[in-house]
Amino acid sequence: MAGNRTFTMIKPDAFAAGNSGAILKMIEEAGFKIVAMKATQLSSELAGKFYAVHKERPFYADLCKYMSSGPIIAAILEKDNAVEDFRTLIGATNPANAAEGTIRKIFATSIEANAVHGSDSDENAEIEGNFYFNQYERVK
Ligand code: GDP
Repeated sequence: MAGNRTFTMIKPDAFAAGNSGAILKMIEEAGFKIVAMKATQLSSELAGKFYAVHKERPFYADLCKYMSSGPIIAAILEKDNAVEDFRTLIGATNPANAAEGTIRKIFATSIEANAVHGSDSDENAEIEGNFYFNQYERVK
């Protein structure tokens, strides 16, 4: 059965452009409840840990640099079928391929600076949420 939580980041490009509020509005209007949320900034070392699965990809160094380049918002979200529904809401990795009305189509500026992160599995949603939040930082 699909889980009911996912994890997201509003990435440095969207945060710096002042789009965090508009993106959170879309997320809430799509039926996601915010379970935990913080504004923070990753060091490049922490960005490297978060994206360790991409270590062998050619864009890994650029990705770590970009993700540590400015503040972000990290959040755990709750909704039935959360992971899949959130991936639908954000759209394809490359905004050029993202469906109309998706967050990346509206706010992303490139395949790298693509406005938001969304977990790709229930297992990763759990790991990624735990990367940022302890039990006292979550709504019960
Ligand atoms: P996601 O699950 O849709 O976020 O995509 P991936 O897990 O494949 O990639 C993780 C992140 O790496 C993406 O959200 C982008 O920020 C970045 N990224 C993915 N592909 C590329 C690429 O080809 N070039 C660059 N520069 N960044 C990329």
